Amino acid sequence: MSKAFIYDLTPLELTEALNALEQPGFRTKQLLQGLYNKLYQDFDAFDAIPKSLREALDNQFNITPLKLHSTVYSKNKDTEKVLFETHDGHLIETVLMRFERRNTLCISTQVGCPMACVFCATGQQGFARNLSMSEILGQFIHFQRELRQKNEALRNVVFMGMGEPFLNYENVSNSLYALSDPERLGVGARHITVSTVGVIPRIAQFAKDHPQVNLAISLHAPDDALRTKLLPANKQFPLDNLMKACRDYVKETNRKITFEYALIDQLNDTTEHAHAFAKQLKGILSIVNLITLNPSKDYPYPGSSSMRVQNFRNVLVSHGVRVTVRLRRGIEINAGCGQLAGSIKSNDII
Ligand code: SF4
Repeated sequence: MSKAFIYDLTPLELTEALNALEQPGFRTKQLLQGLYNKLYQDFDAFDAIPKSLREALDNQFNITPLKLHSTVYSKNKDTEKVLFETHDGHLIETVLMRFERRNTLCISTQVGCPMACVFCATGQQGFARNLSMSEILGQFIHFQRELRQKNEALRNVVFMGMGEPFLNYENVSNSLYALSDPERLGVGARHITVSTVGVIPRIAQFAKDHPQVNLAISLHAPDDALRTKLLPANKQFPLDNLMKACRDYVKETNRKITFEYALIDQLNDTTEHAHAFAKQLKGILSIVNLITLNPSKDYPYPGSSSMRVQNFRNVLVSHGVRVTVRLRRGIEINAGCGQLAGSIKSNDII
């Protein structure tokens, strides 16, 4: 029988596993400390635990679910993209962004993605399966171990890598509990952001389960016709319903929502689009992140020019909308969502 991955167990399940091994209650804390604070990679390293228990755990569990496949750096080294191989041979990617001493990790939640957004390299690859909690946390733990050796740490986590987090809600939710728990990985909930294209039923649940974790919505178009063309999921979750769910979210949490909008030249970046977008945001506590599209192999349309970005921003601001314009980072290492795994697959390197 193959061994389970220990990071797939919640603290309660760990306690049950230890009870089954007839261990006293305090062992859960010792085990959690080794796994989440010390980030041990081997049961031998758990020196607070008797050798017989270490052996019993080693017979039952694996610790590390991901194998490092390859790493690519941007020219100025401020973006690092790692490709991991899962136990069943899939490739997933994780991106570390190191700007102004704020280390931010972009995590994947699925192998591929069924949402099929037309401009997204992951969407173009199709969908294989959800990532487990151990695979989601394994991405964080890998980078946290590396940064510790340089006396640094991860400060921010964004769920914006491969996959739609709200289609893998249970594993994402359990990972959020582990990440934000001061006794485990200890990233402040307000330093974590989950981004969705708008899986409406999960927005209300997320508001109840994780009111302190930031919510980002990938909007990208201000009307149903255009949005459905870019994000086919809009058919199932149309804009009116999505914006109502956003209003309900703000009412429930009193937290602002970040709206992501990738500007594509002449397609969604006109003055009219900007006015329509501002209208959609009326009455929602929000901030808008504008970014120019990262072209991918199968969607080679250019991002908007700086002049068009500026115009779009100015129109939003004239409506009282808070706007940030994000820099496009790591384009030369295909750091747009899913693009590294896509390029490796398409070049038949694996
Ligand atoms: S943009 Fe996000 S939701 Fe859309 S296909 Fe890509 S990974 Fe999936």
